[in-house]
Amino acid sequence: MKRFIFVAGGVMSGIGKGIATASIGKILKDKGYRVSAVKIDPYVNVDAGTMNPVEHGEVFVTKDGGECDQDIGNYERFLSEEFTKKNYITTGRVYKAVIKRERNLEYDGKCVEVVPDIPNETIRRIKKAAEENNADFTLIEIGGTIGEYQNLLFLEAARMMKLEDPNRVLFILVSYLPTPKTIGEMKTKPTQNASRRLNEAGIQPDIILGRAETEMDEPRKEKISNFCNIDKKYVISAPDVESIYDVPINFKKENLGNKILEKFKIEPKNGQLSEWIKMAEKIKNGNKKLKIAIIGKYFETGNFTLTDSYISVIEAIRHAAWKLDIDPEIDWIFAEDYEKKEEKINEIKKYDGVIIPGGFGNRGVEGKIKAIKLCREKKVPFLGLCLGMQLSVIEFSRNVVGLKNANSTEFNNDCQYPVIDIMEEQKKLIENDSFGGTMRLGEYECKINKKSKSYNLYQKESISERHRHRYEFNQKYESQLKENGLVIAGRNPKSGLVEIIEIENHPFFVGVQFHPEFKSRPLDPHPLFSGFLKSIKATKEH
Ligand code: GLN
Repeated sequence: MKRFIFVAGGVMSGIGKGIATASIGKILKDKGYRVSAVKIDPYVNVDAGTMNPVEHGEVFVTKDGGECDQDIGNYERFLSEEFTKKNYITTGRVYKAVIKRERNLEYDGKCVEVVPDIPNETIRRIKKAAEENNADFTLIEIGGTIGEYQNLLFLEAARMMKLEDPNRVLFILVSYLPTPKTIGEMKTKPTQNASRRLNEAGIQPDIILGRAETEMDEPRKEKISNFCNIDKKYVISAPDVESIYDVPINFKKENLGNKILEKFKIEPKNGQLSEWIKMAEKIKNGNKKLKIAIIGKYFETGNFTLTDSYISVIEAIRHAAWKLDIDPEIDWIFAEDYEKKEEKINEIKKYDGVIIPGGFGNRGVEGKIKAIKLCREKKVPFLGLCLGMQLSVIEFSRNVVGLKNANSTEFNNDCQYPVIDIMEEQKKLIENDSFGGTMRLGEYECKINKKSKSYNLYQKESISERHRHRYEFNQKYESQLKENGLVIAGRNPKSGLVEIIEIENHPFFVGVQFHPEFKSRPLDPHPLFSGFLKSIKATKEH
């Protein structure tokens, strides 16, 4: 029997609804159930691939090549599962499917209407994901907050599902309780209003998770219970915690798992969460401090610096760090700074390691190339991910091989030495302005050279990693680069495409065309990130 738990947000976004959803999944999985999670984004974009990462956060790529909201990454990391495109729903995707069906005469001549056909398509998709993941419980997180116009049809879908089978559907409201400094008291009114907005959509929350800076006290719980029409025991305190990995532990303390089971009339069950608890403790208490620089460009919005665009990279560092007793201190560096001020580049030397993650377009590219040169020459451990790998090939070509002005055709279409070039099958797509969902996406096999560092790290010859790119290592330059010391450590066995490059006589210099960060898990860190940190630790201890 399949059961569904809707998670919607009240008051404001950014309060950790995704982590809350992933954590609820985690505690249910810990009790022995199969859990799936679906994210609904209200955007008209068909997928997250066409959204600006500063605005929307990282584009998380699933194994089947889905360009998804970063919350799918949270679900995969917390649940140690792999999901697919089917676990991500957007307004655009739903409308596209309905219109396609209408064009195919699949509605048998009936008028196709926003209600109920859009909610019906949403429901069909939710059920399909549940089936595909063979899940006992499917969590459905509705993006944004209640009260947004664009979410109305998704709330309608939730209401319809509850009506169809009340015993199989549960609603959780994740709300926010501010404690304004000038008042000095935790206020419940915004949550009362959020709950009422849900009521207007015909939905009564079964459980309210009260996100706040501190624990929610009894009088606050009573107020919410009274005014939101919900038994006090289902008002759950969810205070700020030191690390996101503490959230499931807090839910366990609040007995949330059994309260959910009880709502579904299922006998309570014991869960241990023991390995997770150990990890969550260690992830906060690494002894060895290391300074890591991430050089990127998707951080700034007005006066604020956000790190959401690189969330999987950051978490992959943390996963690898706790196992090695490392406390990583991560700094953000704006690549453009290195273009504006020459001397600033020397600050790289104060870092123990440098990561250049993925990216698009030429803003900041020359700054990143300068940083790579310094890492190569001064033997600073370096990990290049996708764009980071491509730029390290450009740097090597320019400064070691002597191919002056070598570049990627992404940044200079007529460059003399296009050491990174557009993939053949991508050319036509770009010419036809076909950008959405057309990159080389998802998992591909890579065969690793047995003599490489990467082989040592992976300890296997065949690996499979996730991709998202249009440009590739130009094999015309391969022999020239190899003669000068570049190691081709891995390639795709079918296309021959270069997937991993390395430099010898360096503590750690690895560039990968794929995104290893998407496969890192808190209890199962990724070998490349572990190898990167291990080599730094070893250099420092020397
Ligand atoms: N812009 C580069 C490409 O399209 C790199 C992409 C990335 O870093 N994800 O190939």
